[in-house]
Amino acid sequence: MYDPHSLHAEEFIDHEEVQETLAWAAEHARDAGLIDGILAKAALCKGLSHREASVLLACELPDRVEALYRLANRIKHEFYGNRIVMFAPLYLSNYCVNSCVYCPYHARNKHIIRKKLTQEEVAREVIALQDMGHKRLALEAGEHPAMNPISYILDCIRTIYGIRHRNGAIRRVNVNIAATTVEEYRMLREAGIGTYILFQETYHKQSYEKLHPAGPKHDYAWHTEAMDRAMQGGIDDVGLGVLFGLEGYRYEFAALLMHAEHLEAVHGVGPHTISVPRIKKADDIDPDVFDNGIDDETFARICACIRVAVPYTGMIISTRESQAVREKVLPLGVSQISGASRTSVGGYCEPEPEDENSAQFDVSDRRTLDEVVRWLMDQGHIPSFCTACYREGRTGDRFMSLCKSRQILNCCHPNALLTLKEYLQDYASPATRAVGLDMIAKELDKIPSDKVRARTIRCLSAIEAGQRDFR
Ligand code: SAM
Repeated sequence: MYDPHSLHAEEFIDHEEVQETLAWAAEHARDAGLIDGILAKAALCKGLSHREASVLLACELPDRVEALYRLANRIKHEFYGNRIVMFAPLYLSNYCVNSCVYCPYHARNKHIIRKKLTQEEVAREVIALQDMGHKRLALEAGEHPAMNPISYILDCIRTIYGIRHRNGAIRRVNVNIAATTVEEYRMLREAGIGTYILFQETYHKQSYEKLHPAGPKHDYAWHTEAMDRAMQGGIDDVGLGVLFGLEGYRYEFAALLMHAEHLEAVHGVGPHTISVPRIKKADDIDPDVFDNGIDDETFARICACIRVAVPYTGMIISTRESQAVREKVLPLGVSQISGASRTSVGGYCEPEPEDENSAQFDVSDRRTLDEVVRWLMDQGHIPSFCTACYREGRTGDRFMSLCKSRQILNCCHPNALLTLKEYLQDYASPATRAVGLDMIAKELDKIPSDKVRARTIRCLSAIEAGQRDFR
């Protein structure tokens, strides 16, 4: 029986409830009255249940789908404004004891070059990232208790936060490592991580077990209950995700929202972010062997449905997606994107030679950060390098309540402009700088409060004079 309050994976992701949801959604895919009611509820910006959102995902009425896209765009602007937060992944180690059949890190893959960064190499990678202008990282590592124990991850976090280079500093480190114990989550929290991210891969238990035939990740309950342990360990901000392509997307979507409902029911706060990776070609991996690949149109629909179902949750798109797909989904509610990512271990300092491959997957968007920043601005988005919320303790339910009351916009928009100004001053090409300065001037007019606008103008001048890191 579906019970969002349960701490057991198979009760909060109840298989029968997912199937009933899908059947009910399919039955109502052309039910204009019901769909209009759900859209009207979504327009109140208080979110939707997994059942309601699944009807929107199944909807077969083109004009209602258009209405959904318009609403997703409006909700994105109401909660997040036109800013897009930037980050980069940092791959620490691809040693892994698991056997995920879609992932080139799987233990039996003998062609992939195994690498693990030393602390000196971590420092070099971080300086390369800082020199591009990045302020926010997502750490990535395979699961290997001997090669990548928690002490190694903690050393890396300390190294990263310790590096000051020219005007650069990494101000927020998010972590995407395998499910672990409450004790180890507590250590990550004490090390000052931002969000703990763990993709479920698939919520379908039977498929999950087939796709993870051996290793600690085989245990569905251990993996699915990880966010509860993370929250028990004091981590306020957790990031969910599904690897689309492994199972039927409608199943994953309903279950993902059930997971969000569960976190809200048990911990009083839903996921901080949701990621929507799609499976990609990689060493030893051919995505075409998985039957559940989704086309770009379906992908866009999923993004729009997530946006209206959980309006206060950030949505992340990585460089797995091409420029064209990113352009399609940015207006539908994405709030964070990565830029200039390298998915190989050590790849920021030394791009991999052709005959080596330690990468996790092929990247589709290969532009530089400067190009991505300019492209965002050309489309009317403010690239933001802001990390203020987390550093001011606005995490978990404090962030959510600010976000729900739309207060976040009063500080996020000016902060985005300040961090963009730092980027333009320290890292941008002359062409990007010109576009950015013009954007900042126009965006200043949109700050409603005279007091906040005056402070922002003062801080912008101080940044020009060499000061950094206003909060
Ligand atoms: N090892 C950690 C774990 O088990 O959760 C997480 C780190 S892994 C480096 C990050 C994510 O990359 C995985 O959770 C998976 O969803 C994704 N991934 C793996 N293989 C992929 C592929 N071929 N294409 C796209 N994404 C992939």
